[in-house]
Amino acid sequence: MSDTQHTRVLIVGSGPAGYTAGVYAARAMLEPMLIQGIEPGGQLTTTTEVENWPGDTEVQGPDLMVRMESHARAMGCNIVHDIVTDLDLSKRPFTATCDSGAVVTADAIILATGARAKWLGLPSEDAFKGFGVSACATCDGFFYRGQEIIVVGGGNTAVEEALFLTNFASKVTLVHRRDELRAEAILQNRLKKNPKIETLWFHQIEEIRGTDSPKGVESVALKNVQTGEITELPAKGVFIAIGHAPASELVKDQLDLHHGGYVKVEPGTTRTAIPGVFAAGDLTDHVYRQAVTSAGMGCMAALDAERFLAEHDQAVRDTVTEPLGYGAEEPAE
Ligand code: NAP
Repeated sequence: MSDTQHTRVLIVGSGPAGYTAGVYAARAMLEPMLIQGIEPGGQLTTTTEVENWPGDTEVQGPDLMVRMESHARAMGCNIVHDIVTDLDLSKRPFTATCDSGAVVTADAIILATGARAKWLGLPSEDAFKGFGVSACATCDGFFYRGQEIIVVGGGNTAVEEALFLTNFASKVTLVHRRDELRAEAILQNRLKKNPKIETLWFHQIEEIRGTDSPKGVESVALKNVQTGEITELPAKGVFIAIGHAPASELVKDQLDLHHGGYVKVEPGTTRTAIPGVFAAGDLTDHVYRQAVTSAGMGCMAALDAERFLAEHDQAVRDTVTEPLGYGAEEPAE
């Protein structure tokens, strides 16, 4: 990418929201540019089977994202492998500065930076990250063949990760702070039927314990949240699956955020408080957070951007033609 470029529509992020926005904006002849970010394809690239993408009874998450990227590219979306490190939304055209040093100006921006895995925030979790502590079963599960593993959380991610990890582990303990899971019923049924998984209700991790040399996890101290009792469970791997937080750092001082960091949009639209800036997918959706709803919002954002640019172009044409009106000859009597 040359040092400074201008685009009508800049899409930031490459999950289902970003790529769908790319397909729609390209088909609207807006010649969009999409900057992929640090993890091209987003969260779905760290999952395995996806069973709720309409039209595919089962599809691998990474394959689905490769297909979405190819689709957007085939429609004419300019897909750039770079990371936006700074965004200036204070004036139009908006300016994005990238990790490579490239600068992109844009008449409209679609923010689709998604969400990232949350961590517990324990010092021992930090100490063993990458050495037994992970937030991605598909990335790291392979390292725990024949070992005992703990998964923390009670949502879809936790249950899916626990099920996936039984492909490698001798035993998986799902640790949840309540006695009820948020995960879909179909996943809960699979969990109950899996002989390798045990669920430990009303427990939270107090400390992750291990050795320094070689660096690795050996056990986890667990607290019973009802009685306060601490027990120790042997484990070589600890997978944290306690939800996701929106990746809104780029815009946190420029746009209104709510519900713990989600970009606020006008209800029923993808319009943010800044005209010409749109937000779609997990960055703004604190309710549904599904691949298919993200894709739907990506479509909405492209349509909203198209409408905005059409109105903007019309306003520019009106200002250009207005002075001519003053100089026009008086109509003949
Ligand atoms: P989630 O649904 O928000 O669930 C997070 C889980 O972690 C909850 O059970 C929560 O406990 C627990 N938790 C949160 N903070 C915790 C803490 N500090 N200590 C211990 N436990 C904690 O997150 P998710 O499972 O990542 O799912 C996010 C979204 O993606 C959801 O909308 C989900 O449906 C979607 N998703 C869908 C699929 C699929 O369709 N196949 C797969 C993955 C994710 P409480 O229940 O007590 O609050």
